[in-house]
Amino acid sequence: MDKTLGTRYDRRNSLKGENFMKIVMLGAGAMGSLFGAMLSRSGKEEVWLLDIWEEHIDRVKSQGLLVESEGTETVFKARATTNPEEVGVADLIIVFVKAYITKEAVEFGLPMVGKETLFLSLQNGLGNIEKIESVVGETPVVGGVTSQGATMLGPGRIRHGGKGPTFVGHIDGRVTPEIERIASLLIESGIPTEVSDHIERLIWEKLLINVGINAVTAIVGLRNGELLNFEETRALMTMAVEEAERVALKKGIPLEGSPVERVFEVCEATGRNRSSMGQDIDNRRRTEIDSINGAIVREGEALGIPTPVNATLTYLIKTIEAGFKT
Ligand code: NAD
Repeated sequence: MDKTLGTRYDRRNSLKGENFMKIVMLGAGAMGSLFGAMLSRSGKEEVWLLDIWEEHIDRVKSQGLLVESEGTETVFKARATTNPEEVGVADLIIVFVKAYITKEAVEFGLPMVGKETLFLSLQNGLGNIEKIESVVGETPVVGGVTSQGATMLGPGRIRHGGKGPTFVGHIDGRVTPEIERIASLLIESGIPTEVSDHIERLIWEKLLINVGINAVTAIVGLRNGELLNFEETRALMTMAVEEAERVALKKGIPLEGSPVERVFEVCEATGRNRSSMGQDIDNRRRTEIDSINGAIVREGEALGIPTPVNATLTYLIKTIEAGFKT
C-alpha cells in the first residue's frame, strides 16, 4: 500500500456483502483500460472493459491487454465486450468516455444499472456528474479527479504515464460508506486514492489547469513547457485562468493558492508533454473543449461574468474541429 496516503481505507472495514463484485469500465480507451487492468490484478472482482471500439475489444479478448509502464510490458487478462447486456447488472460503473459523449454512453450502459449500482466519474471537465445523473436519476454518482495518466498505443495496447493521486467524493461533500468502499477498492488495486469532502473544489482546480494549458497548446502547436517561453502565451494563459477564477469565486468555490502560478508549475513539471487536447487536434479528433473553456463561458454567462478569452479559445478550437469534417 502506498505510504504517502493521507487517508487510507481498508477493505476489511467494508461491511460483509458490501464488496464490489462486478466492476465495469464504461469507455475502455486509455484510462478505462488502465483502471481496468489495475482493478483486474487481484482477481477478486469481475472486471469488464466495455467499449464501442470493436478492434480494441477483440484484441483484448484474444491477446489480453498490454500495458507498457516504465519500459516494461505486462499483459492483463480482462473481460471485454461491446455489449452491455453481456455484462449484466454491475456493482460499480466507472465512466471513462470523453466528456462530450458521457450522456450517450450512460444511456448505452443502462442495461448494467440495477438497484445497487454506483457510478464513478474521473473524467476531466465540468458537467459529467450532472450528465450521468440526468440519465440514471436516483443512482448515486461519485465524482473525482485523477493524476494517473495513460495513452492509447493501438488496439489492445496502452502506456501508463502519470502516477499521481486520485481523489473521490460526493459533489455535496458528504463522506459516505460507498465512497470509502470505492477508495478502498482503488487503493487495493495499486491506485493511491483519498476520500475528499471538497471534491467540487478539486474538480475546479484541475479544470483551471486544463483551461490554462489545453486549448492554447492545441492552437499554437507547442508542448506544455514551451508555453512558458513566450510572453504572449503566458499572457493568454493568465487571462483565461483569471476569467475562470472569477467564475469559480462567484460560484462560491474557494480555490487554493494562485491558479495562474499553479498552471505555470504544471507547464514546467509536464514540460515535454503535449496536452490531451493538443494530441486530439494533432490526430484530427474531437476535443473536450465544451467541458473545459466552453464550460467557463457557459458558467460565466449564467453569472454575468465576461469570459471573452475563453470564448475566443473555444471558437478557435471548434473552428479547427469543424475543418476535420471537410
Ligand atoms: P480515450 O479516447 O482514450 O477513451 C475513450 C473511449 O471511450 C474510447 O475507446 C471510445 O471508443 C470509447 N467510447 C466512445 N463512445 C462510447 C460509448 N457510447 N460507450 C462506450 N465506450 C465509448 O480517452 P481517455 O484518454 O481514456 O480519457 C477518458 C476521460 O478521462 C476524459 O474525460 C479525459 O479527459 C479523462 N482523463 C484522461 C487522462 C489521460 O491521461 N488520458 C487522465 C485523466 C483524465
